[in-house]
Amino acid sequence: MKPRGVLLAGNWKMNHGPKAAQDFFRALPYSKKPGATMRIYPSYLSLATALDSVSAAGRDIEIGAQNFHAEKSGAFTGEVSGPMLQEIGIHQVLLGHSERRQYFSETPAVILNKTVSALQQGFEVLLCIGETLDERKAGQTVEVLTHQLKSTLADPTCSAAFGTSLHLAYEPVWAIGTGVTATPAQAQATHASLRSLLTRSLGEISADAVQILYGGSVTPGNFGELLACPDIDGGLVGGASLKPESFGALWSLISS
Ligand code: PEP
Repeated sequence: MKPRGVLLAGNWKMNHGPKAAQDFFRALPYSKKPGATMRIYPSYLSLATALDSVSAAGRDIEIGAQNFHAEKSGAFTGEVSGPMLQEIGIHQVLLGHSERRQYFSETPAVILNKTVSALQQGFEVLLCIGETLDERKAGQTVEVLTHQLKSTLADPTCSAAFGTSLHLAYEPVWAIGTGVTATPAQAQATHASLRSLLTRSLGEISADAVQILYGGSVTPGNFGELLACPDIDGGLVGGASLKPESFGALWSLISS
């Protein structure tokens, strides 16, 4: 088993309403694995059903939200706050996803504000970072990731939370939903650079405790090789998390 344990997280994005969520959990093959965690991020509307489905089946599957608003309440039409999520039993949030950055104009400052607020409210945060294809081609991957993490590492709330309630997902933008996956060598090299950056900023003990997930066209055909890399602590999965068969197949690749 991996030193930091393994996290297999599914990001359903804007898919699966409550009925589809219930059907998914009914059909999902699942067995408990020591040191491994399964987590799903459904849409807001399907969170309650997902929680009910896993608790009715007595399964240890974590359910998290794909987003939340940094303020606890107020005049923010269409938004959902941390206390609302906690009221129904949600304690995990996914932040910084490239689709939030690209389609919802979430700047590094917005993402930092949400991350700090989530941590201060007691959430566990999975923070996504990743470079575009042009940035990779220009040899700027590490520089871009360092820039994306800079304000987070400098913030006292975040830096104290790394390795306990703040973890990372490295998701090259060119690999998300494209069918093109980073090779295990590319992913491992980037994860190792991230681990060095964390070590320089936080010290070895905290840096070693941070789970760094790989995300970007993960499938049952490529997950095993990715997971075999020493700095890859699991996967953040979009497309292959939507079907119980494929997500179950990913879970079965994690050794117990
Ligand atoms: C994602 O959205 O986080 C993702 C990695 O998607 P996909 O697995 O479909 O590339």
